[in-house]
Amino acid sequence: MDSPLILVDDKHVPLYRILWVADLPHWCGDEECEREGEYEVRLEADESLWTTMQGRDNVIAALRKWCGDPVDDDDRGF
Ligand SMILES: [Zn+2]
Repeated sequence: MDSPLILVDDKHVPLYRILWVADLPHWCGDEECEREGEYEVRLEADESLWTTMQGRDNVIAALRKWCGDPVDDDDRGF
C-alpha cells in the first residue's frame, strides 16, 4: 500500500507517522504559549505539529480515507 502524505503546517507528513489528532484546541493558560487555539497532531518520537481546525479536519479526513472506513470489504461473493 502506498503511504499518502498530508500537509500539516508547512510539512508534508506520511500518514503512518501520525499517532493521534487533538479533538480540542490547545489551552494551557501560559501567557507565553504560542499554541493557544491550535490543534495538536501527534507524531512518533515525541514530536508534534500544530495546525488550525481546518488543518486538523483535513488530517482526520485523510486518515479516515487511508485507514479505510469500515467499508464492506468482505461483502462480495458470500
Ligand atoms: Zn500551551
